[in-house]
Amino acid sequence: MAKISDLLAGGPTVSFEFFPPKTDAAALTLGRTIAELEPLHPSFVSVTYGAGGSTRHRTRDIVVWIARETDITPMAHLTCVGHTRAEITEILENYREAGIENILALYGDPPADAGPDYDHGDFRYAVELVEFIKEFGGFSVGVAAHPELHPRSPDRATDRRFLAEKLAVADFGVTQFFFEADHYFRMVEEVAEHGVTTPIIPGIMPVNSVKAIKRMAELSGAHFPDWLAERLTAAADPAAVRQVGIEVATEMCRELLEGGVPGLHLYTLNRSNATREIYAALGTAVGS
Ligand code: FAD
Repeated sequence: MAKISDLLAGGPTVSFEFFPPKTDAAALTLGRTIAELEPLHPSFVSVTYGAGGSTRHRTRDIVVWIARETDITPMAHLTCVGHTRAEITEILENYREAGIENILALYGDPPADAGPDYDHGDFRYAVELVEFIKEFGGFSVGVAAHPELHPRSPDRATDRRFLAEKLAVADFGVTQFFFEADHYFRMVEEVAEHGVTTPIIPGIMPVNSVKAIKRMAELSGAHFPDWLAERLTAAADPAAVRQVGIEVATEMCRELLEGGVPGLHLYTLNRSNATREIYAALGTAVGS
C-alpha cells in the first residue's frame, strides 16, 4: 500500500477507476475486471461513492477488498453532500483501521429530486472536506478538477479561482474526462497563474457507445467535438465504434504524456478490454 502523493513523486502514474456494482452479476464482472487488470500493475485504482452515502458500504467493501486481496493500492472516493461531520469522521476512522491511505474528496451532486428543504449536510464545498480530512490526518487527499469548467461555475475565472484554492490544500487532482488535450493543458496553466502547481492527473474515458458517451458528456459539461462524432459515425458497427474509441483515447494519452502529465487515470466502466488495449498500445510509455 502507498500514498498517491508518494507515487506521483516517483514519476507518472497509471490508474483505473471503478464504480460499486448494483447486482451480484455486476459484482462478478468487476471481480473479473480487477483480476484482468492487476497484471498491468496500475499505480492505484479508485472506487466511486454514491453522493449522499448511497454506496457508502459497497464503496468501502470494495476498497478494503482490493487492499486485502490484491497488490494494488486503492483510493476511496468520498462525497460530503448530505453528510454530517460525525458521519465523515466515522467513515475516515473505518478506512484508517483498514489501512486505507488515499481519499478523493468530493462535494458530490445532490439527488436530482432534491427540493429546497434538502439537507446538504455540514459541508458546503469539497475544499472543506479536504481541510477536514487533512486535520483528521493520515491520508493522501485528491480532488476533482474540471478542465472544461464545473457545470455550476458562473464563469471561467471564478471556476479557476476556487479550483486553485482547493488544489492548494490537496495533494493531487484528478480530472473529469475530456476529448481534446488542450482543455487539460489550458486548465493547468490557468491554475498555475494562481501560483498552484499541485499535480493534476488527466481522466480519460474511452468511447464505447456514441449514445452513452454523448449523455455522459452532456452531464459532465465535456464538449463532444465534431471530428470525434464524424469518426464514430463512420464506424460500421458497435465493435468498430469501440475500436475508434480506443484509438482516439490512445492518441490523446500519447499527447498528454508528451506534454508531461503526472499520470493517466482511465475510466474503465468496470470492464477491462479498452483499458488493456490502450495500455498495450502505449507500450513502454506507461511501463508495460
Ligand atoms: P466543489 O469543489 O465543491 O465545486 C463545486 C462547485 O462549487 C464548482 O462550481 C466550484 O467552482 C464551486 N465552489 C467551490 N468552492 C466555492 C466557494 N468557496 N464559493 C463558491 N463556489 C465554490 N461524484 C460522486 O457523487 N461520486 C464520485 O465518486 C465522484 N467521483 C468523481 C471523480 C472525479 C475525478 C470527478 C472529476 C468528479 C467526480 N464526481 C463524483 C462528481 C462530483 O462530485 C461533481 O462534479 C460535483 O458536482 C462537484 O464536486 P467537486 O468536488 O468538484 O465540488
